[in-house]
Amino acid sequence: RIVYVNGDYLPEGEAKISIFDRGFLMADGVYEVTTVIDGKLIDFDGHFLRLERSLGELGIENPMARDEWLDVHRQLVAQNDVGHGMVYLQVTRGAPGDRDFIFPDPETTKPTVVLFSQANPALIDSPKAKKGIKVITIDDIRWGRRDIKTVQLLYPSMGKMMALKAGCDDAWMVQDGEVTEGTSNNAYIIKGGRIITRALSNDILHGITRAAVLRFARESQMPVEERSFTVEEAMQADEAFVTSASTFVMPVVEIDGAKLGAGTPGPLATRLREIYIEESRKTAI
Ligand code: PLP
Repeated sequence: RIVYVNGDYLPEGEAKISIFDRGFLMADGVYEVTTVIDGKLIDFDGHFLRLERSLGELGIENPMARDEWLDVHRQLVAQNDVGHGMVYLQVTRGAPGDRDFIFPDPETTKPTVVLFSQANPALIDSPKAKKGIKVITIDDIRWGRRDIKTVQLLYPSMGKMMALKAGCDDAWMVQDGEVTEGTSNNAYIIKGGRIITRALSNDILHGITRAAVLRFARESQMPVEERSFTVEEAMQADEAFVTSASTFVMPVVEIDGAKLGAGTPGPLATRLREIYIEESRKTAI
């Protein structure tokens, strides 16, 4: 596989990053994952704008213009012949000479930029989407700026492992009795035809897929309520689902052992998945 590191396209085995990189030492960096369908990028501009925002919140200069980012994404898709899959990008504050809590001078320490692609031929016809996923709930003990897409993913990763250990697929995180989001996705329930998902704040990542799915839902006359919900309310829901760039709309069929409806993907979640894939394909670039 060919990867991109600080301006160069290299075989992955030749790519090198300094051991002093603040991404490695301090998780001082941000990332984006953009999905590729039929060799084209879904919601590229949404991901670019969120990248700019994340970098701005951390005071890291955006090292490239929109069209340069787009060019690197497209080069990787082409050079690695990606049909369905994704492009991962990461920007860290860079590698100063020494380890230090104080941010380095941006004049001398430039951000580190890494991008790579991953192929996933089963992206659209996902067996999980046909069966639906089971989630457990865990305490949300992450930091208070989850709206910034940092590479600090240890707790979400541990949450996913707790879910697997419990024979489930993923974990929903809970703060003050209310669901914030999944380990790597936004969380939704459906009750009486209404789609309910937590409102945007610093408590959750502002999902690019979330924005698209809520738009498609409203355009299809499905009512949307952006508000918090409790685990108890979720267990009584008709349907549930999660959204992310890499899983689109993924039906949830069980929460903490309680089956939702028939325990199979619900009709509205299934319909939203179809609409999302169809519409995203049309606007991919
Ligand atoms: N919430 C969290 C914590 C995530 O890590 C992600 C994606 O990685 C999402 C939500 C979904 O965001 P998006 O739809 O932009 O992929």
